[in-house]
Parts: sequence; structure tokens; C-alpha cells
Amino acid sequence: MAELLNIELDGRPVVSDTISEPEIPVVRGQKVYIETYGCQMNVSDTELMMGILKRAGYQSSSRPEDADVVLLNTCAIREHAEERVVGRLNQLSYLKVKKPHLVMGVSGCMAKHLADEFMHRVPSVDLVLGPDSYRRLPDLIAEASREPALDVRLDRDEDYLGLDPLRKNGTHAWITIMRGCDKFCTFCIVPYVRGRERSVSAPEIVRQAEVAASEGFQEVTLLGQTVNSYRHGDCDFADLLQMVAGVDGIRRIRFTSPHPSDFTDKLIDTMAGEEKICRFVHLPVQSGSDSVLGAMKRNYTVSEYLNLVDRLRSTMQGLCLSTDVIAGFSGETEADFEATLDLMRQVRYDSAFMFKYSPREGTVAHREIADTVSEVEKGRRLEAVIALQNQISEEINRTYVGKKLDILVQGDAKKGKGLAVGKSDGFKTVVFPRSGIKDNTFVQVEIQKTTLKTLTGHPVLSQVASC
Ligand code: SF4
Repeated sequence: MAELLNIELDGRPVVSDTISEPEIPVVRGQKVYIETYGCQMNVSDTELMMGILKRAGYQSSSRPEDADVVLLNTCAIREHAEERVVGRLNQLSYLKVKKPHLVMGVSGCMAKHLADEFMHRVPSVDLVLGPDSYRRLPDLIAEASREPALDVRLDRDEDYLGLDPLRKNGTHAWITIMRGCDKFCTFCIVPYVRGRERSVSAPEIVRQAEVAASEGFQEVTLLGQTVNSYRHGDCDFADLLQMVAGVDGIRRIRFTSPHPSDFTDKLIDTMAGEEKICRFVHLPVQSGSDSVLGAMKRNYTVSEYLNLVDRLRSTMQGLCLSTDVIAGFSGETEADFEATLDLMRQVRYDSAFMFKYSPREGTVAHREIADTVSEVEKGRRLEAVIALQNQISEEINRTYVGKKLDILVQGDAKKGKGLAVGKSDGFKTVVFPRSGIKDNTFVQVEIQKTTLKTLTGHPVLSQVASC
């Protein structure tokens, strides 16, 4: 889903004192507008680009009409995403007529995947840059103002060390701890567009967490394509979690997305022993059939996955789980599909991201595995998966009635005047009367009613904690 990220400059420090200033063209007063598509990694990359651009003298714009540079930060994972981005670029092309000096660009995974296509199909595009080229963004914008500029090289050494993001006002800081992926699941384009796995050093991540804490953020999410395969020198992901937990001011730590095959006992023990690490794990399963998991090259079996779920749940009481499920992967039989439903009934996830399989060009599955399941059948299977998950989510949520949850207040609820919304430790969305409670504070809420996606309750006012 596309998320429009309009970052307002608010004077928070973005310049690290641990690095020397890069030699970049300094621009004063030019405005940049970035529209972000896709996952949290892209949201985090947009913040990184905004930090780099602010250092070069750019200001942010909340409207493309007011900007001198318009960037679409794209994601290549989902089907039809290209058409949407090309459509949006064409829609924005009128701005170039009104403002010929405007630089229009595409960044991110899709830019890496479809660089030539963008340059040829959308004449208004002056700049295409891949996920390892953000450091050069000011240079590339300067180049693109003269002639079309393209930089989609993958760089195994690029970890954006020392560059601080410009975060959107909020209650939650993303910190990218590793980039790329070495797993090469057969359906996935990520290793080709984001390159091979590389981890950021632990001291740099701790420094970024300290900066986030100094900016007032109390919750951080550590990001990586396979976040728990993190390793830098002798430091593994469990060690890193422990180090981030030591940062004063950070009260909650989340991470996404872990790969089931990289969940060690040490990591589970570290999570269990550290209160700041939230009791929520997004654990992508994709399928409940061993033969489909093998064809996807997921590197675990159903029984290994279930064993992991047991270890997690037996070590951490009240742990909430979510997952990803793909319906109708190439070669998936009715029995394979039923096995996925069985696994979902057994695990009982709190929530799930559920998709119909669509082959992505450039992947092994697209090249080598026949897409055997018809679109109609994929649709039927997806509907069945969604119906089952909805039923399970509703049942689980109902068990929260009467419970008291600690909520980090995020802002006004989308629906309902005078209501605020926040997240529980287990990542439940909780809505409650604002009653003067400020954003970015913790409040205890007693749950009174629930729906599929939301828990609603009342603050236990005597226990409101101001942070
Ligand atoms: S683990 Fe698999 S699905 Fe996840 S990013 Fe890597 S290749 Fe893609």
C-alpha cells in the first residue's frame, strides 16, 4: 500500500558528530517532496534520503506542486506496482510544464529493477537511483538538472554509516540494521534489487538509537530483510538487541522481519529476558506444505516452523504472532493449500498479510516454475485464507475484553471525535477516549470491546504514566 510521507523539518539534529562532512553540493531553499511506496524499509529509506538532502540545504515540501525535486520511492515486490508508479509519474508530469527546472525522479527497489523502462516510458523522469545510491542523491539531483541521471549500481559495502535520517514527527523510530538478503526465496525479487546481505556495525546502531532517544522517541523498530540474520564481527542479533536495550530513554524495541531459520535459542532467551523487547513476532510462514516450502526455497519444514512457534510461546507468555501467507504458489495442490489452512488453525496467528501468488519477473520461480494455479483458483484460496484468519483474529481479540494493556499513544484515532489510538506491546491497535492524554506517553487501557482489527477501551486514569 502506498504511504504518503510528508516530512516536516522541525529542527531536530540530523548531523552526526562522528563523521566528517561529505563533499556535496549545497543548495539553499530548494524544496523536495518524496512519496513513499511499500514496506517499512522504504519508509526508513525515505527518512534517510530526507536527512541527506537536509544536510545539502534542501527543505521538505508537503505538496508536489511546491517542490523543486519530486521523488517517488518505490517498491518492486507486489504485482501491478509498476503500473501504479508509472501512472503516478505521468499524473505528476504536468508539473514539469509549469516548472521546467523541476527534477522528477524514481528511487528504491523498482528503480533498480526497471531503470531503463522508467527512462524510456516516462519522458518526464530525469533521475533514477537504486537503494545503494542515496548517499549520492544531492550530486545526482544536480546532474539530473542538466541531463538525465541514472545510478542503480549495487554496492556491497554501502551501509550508510554515520548518516542520520530525518524522521517524521511521531512516536516511533525505524533503524535499518542490515540491508539486502542472501536467502534467494524463489518467488522474491529482493536479493536482486537490494543486493547481498550486509550488516551495520553495532556501535553505529546504538548511536542511532541514542539519537532517536534524544529526539524523544521511546520505541524503535530494528529493520532488515532478514533482521535476525544480522551479524557484524562477533556481534549477532541477540547481542545487538541487548545493546539497544541498554540505551536510556528507549522503552520498547521491535524488529521486523525475522526469518524462521535464523531464530536461535540464544535469541529467544534474550527476548524472554529483556522487558523492553516487545512480545510480538512477525514470523513469515508463506505455506503450510513442505513441498511448497521446498519449491519456495524457504529453508525450513512445517515441523521445524511449528517447533519454533512452540519454543517462542513457551518462553514468552502472551506472545502475539503475525505472518505472511501466499495462496496459490506454482504447483500448490489442493492438499498443499489445505495444509496451509491446517497450519493457520494450529498456530492461530493474531494477524496475517495474505497474498495471491503472482510471478515476479527476474525471480527463479518466474523463470523455472510453471504457474500452475489458475487466477480464479488463486482467488478462491486467498478468500478462504482471509476468511479463516479473520475468524481467528476476531476470536483472539475477544479474549482481551477486561484485560489492561499498556499503550504507547500515537495520535488521534481516524474515526471517532475525541478518541486517541496507540499500540500495545503485542502490536494490538487500541482506541480510547483522549481525556487529555498526550501523544508519546504510555497509558494503561482497560479493554471493553473488540473487532477484527481494533480493541476499544478506557484509560485507567490513575495509572497514566507521563514519559
Ligand atoms: S528471505 Fe526470502 S522473501 Fe525474505 S527478502 Fe529474502 S528472498 Fe525475499
